[in-house]
Amino acid sequence: MFFVLWYYYTRGDNMRELYYCAKCGNTKTGEKQCLICQGQDIVIVPKKYVSYVADVIPVLNEELKEEFLEKVVKISPSFDPYWFEHKDEISQNMKQQYEKVKSFQKEQANVPKCPTCNSTDIKKISVMSKAVGATMFGLLSKTARSQFKCKHCGYMW
Ligand SMILES: [Zn+2]
Ligand SMILES: [Zn+2]
Repeated sequence: MFFVLWYYYTRGDNMRELYYCAKCGNTKTGEKQCLICQGQDIVIVPKKYVSYVADVIPVLNEELKEEFLEKVVKISPSFDPYWFEHKDEISQNMKQQYEKVKSFQKEQANVPKCPTCNSTDIKKISVMSKAVGATMFGLLSKTARSQFKCKHCGYMW
């Protein structure tokens, strides 16, 4: 939500148009290409059907939504009933994919890296080998305090 606000604010006043995809009727589209059906027939929604959230964000007027769909979207030469029927489902899937990618990236970001060579090929030192290290080299040995060992350069931290 914050991003959307920021997006419209930075676009400036004179660009507050609402666009729809003439192929699938999606109104949450970019200005050049529909994010759902990849269609490039992007048209400005007539002012009549637009209302503004917080005076900034153009959205489809809910009360006139049906009329808009019947009188504008469905009569468009590029209108494609298949995409129209499935667009919500598809955008839902895309959202889930996006969430997956995001959580994957987050996981990736949490993967520990070797501080010296940046390798992610590292080994978590088990409690067992820590204990062995501790008895063999004394409690203050580096191994005893380390948690990870880099398999690439051998650094331990
Ligand atoms: Zn579309
Ligand atoms: Zn390393």
